[in-house]
Amino acid sequence: MHELSIAASIVEAVSESASAYPGSRVKEVRLRVGALASVVEDSLQFCWELATQDTPLTGALLVIRKLPVVVHCDGCGVDAEVDGVQSLRCPRCGALAADLRQGRELEIESIELDEPEPNEPGMGGEAKPVEERK
Ligand SMILES: [Zn+2]
Repeated sequence: MHELSIAASIVEAVSESASAYPGSRVKEVRLRVGALASVVEDSLQFCWELATQDTPLTGALLVIRKLPVVVHCDGCGVDAEVDGVQSLRCPRCGALAADLRQGRELEIESIELDEPEPNEPGMGGEAKPVEERK
């Protein structure tokens, strides 16, 4: 399953980033997915739940932002958004526009963390004396 390996690699990357903030929980992960990235959103959401199980990302929301395909037309000298992924033609002049500017993205846009409560036991503050231990 293509989407499962994508989800797993996102979980891995996010866990790594989040490990710099001990005690925090990952609340939301935003993803940029181009229309040509051949990712099925529903399938990815399903795999996301599987891949985040028993990880620090459990319960984190996956927000997918779809990016339209953008081609650059030399003739018109503009970047143009293309509707279908089938025809990469300039919508202005109809010329074949092979210069793909956007559409293949599959990247993490941002990660939202739940900061730990400042008064949570064991977090921050000065170290507690250990003499009470018996
Ligand atoms: Zn054109």
